[in-house]
Amino acid sequence: MKQIVDSARRAFMTGKTRSIDFRIQQLKALKQMFTEHENDIVKALKADLNKSYCNAYAYEIMGVMGEIRLAIESLPEWTAQQHVKKNITTMQDDVYIKYEPLGVTLIIGAWNYPLVVLLQPLVGAIAAGNAAVIKPSEVSENTAKLLENLIPHYLDKELYPIVNGGISETTELLAQRFDHIFYTGNTNVGKIIMLAASKFLTPVTLELGGKSPCYIDKNCDIDIASRRITWGKFANCGQTCIAPDYILCDKSIQDKLVEKIKETLKEFYGEDVKQSPDYERIINKRHFKRLLALMEGQRIVHGGTYDEETCYIEPTVIAEVNPESKIMQEEIFGPLLPILSVKNIDEAINFINAKEKPLALYVFSKDKKVINRMISETSSGGVTANDVIMHFTVNELPFGGVGHSGMGSYHGKHSFDTFSHKRGCLIKSLKMEGMNKIRYPPFSRKKLEWAKFLLTTKVDKKRVGLVLFPLIAILAAVIFKKYRWELSGRVIQLVLAFQRKLYKQD
Ligand code: NAD
Repeated sequence: MKQIVDSARRAFMTGKTRSIDFRIQQLKALKQMFTEHENDIVKALKADLNKSYCNAYAYEIMGVMGEIRLAIESLPEWTAQQHVKKNITTMQDDVYIKYEPLGVTLIIGAWNYPLVVLLQPLVGAIAAGNAAVIKPSEVSENTAKLLENLIPHYLDKELYPIVNGGISETTELLAQRFDHIFYTGNTNVGKIIMLAASKFLTPVTLELGGKSPCYIDKNCDIDIASRRITWGKFANCGQTCIAPDYILCDKSIQDKLVEKIKETLKEFYGEDVKQSPDYERIINKRHFKRLLALMEGQRIVHGGTYDEETCYIEPTVIAEVNPESKIMQEEIFGPLLPILSVKNIDEAINFINAKEKPLALYVFSKDKKVINRMISETSSGGVTANDVIMHFTVNELPFGGVGHSGMGSYHGKHSFDTFSHKRGCLIKSLKMEGMNKIRYPPFSRKKLEWAKFLLTTKVDKKRVGLVLFPLIAILAAVIFKKYRWELSGRVIQLVLAFQRKLYKQD
């Protein structure tokens, strides 16, 4: 592991990733990998999670391709110096933010969307000019093996090495020094990552999980809510980090809700879900058994059948769930949908706030006030109102958790920002030295008053004239300075004194 990381660092230190053309070329190569090996990728996803061609394409390949396209198109704009507002003390200077790569990064992926959660961050790391050690999840082993074979044929081998393995390999990797660690997975391992990172003060992005609640107001279109929730909950067999984990709603709408979910399931997956090409499987026996244990003793109102041999669990709806039961203590991450009764939005908000901050929060209502209350009185990584999952697809929005559901964010420009250092740059002019007297010793009350005025006076738009006047005067003085510097310094002081008086009178 040390050799791999050292070699990535040496390659980074050559400076080749500083070139925008190089980054674009690598991103194009990644895109080419997808176009040339689409069938192999789809086959691997089928073997790991029983993803159909359409699901693999829509939920995995399209997401990464979209990020690559956006990064290639936007790199000149993203990497440009970002000039910031100047003030009276910097008006002669260059003041800007320069985005620079962090160095050698580590990207650790999870198994549920094995391409998206590994390669979308990689797009951000490449776009921002970093080296990246890529560590796929060993749990989705077919995709991991395929990526290990493909990536070295497309990306620079030293800068973007891929390491396959489980806990011991990841532990060894984490003992190396990185400049950023981007981890996707469960909260417990998130703590291990953060602890390892602290040794070198390495910044981390933690994309974790949690129980994402879904509140359904009585005043809502239950038909539409049921369709959208059914889609988001049972896609990928419920193994989606931002799937609605459980529903909170008034008892009076529960029967209708359950009926509508049943109807929708039939429409989406047919009479026998097991035969549907669009329904995935649980990743492995361990998770399969964990989910069966969560169903124990619950009042199942739909589904509940399973097949251990193929890790199949039918979409299952559970009613009258006790908030203290096991299914409400951990992230479900499977096709089980508990419904809990709350009398109103106040109760729902209290329930949500009593738990750890979730990765996503959903609210369905025709009433904007209900939506606004839910957003302003709770906290979560992201929110979608009157739908589920969809905020993930808007790459202008930062995607990430808060508190126990994670830290940091990515997608689109946010990925580029995550993998960049924003370097503040001030290039001082060598002119107007007279103005600097104020900050040189010997100090005096008068100088302090000047500093206070220059740095803390808020310029009121109504008084733009008052500001323009001294600016014009300063400009005149600067021109004059070419001939007599000391005199021009005096002129500036007089003009500013006049301006200060006007402000004081006001
Ligand atoms: P996982 O088992 O694939 O583990 C994730 C990564 O952590 C793997 O690469 C694995 O090798 C590594 N790992 C596991 N144990 C480790 C250890 N002890 N030390 C060091 N590394 C270790 O995936 P998982 O954790 O089961 O993933 C599911 C969780 O991830 C869910 O909680 C889900 O909500 C969350 N998730 C979050 C997002 C997001 O974007 N926020 C996306 C997908 C999944």
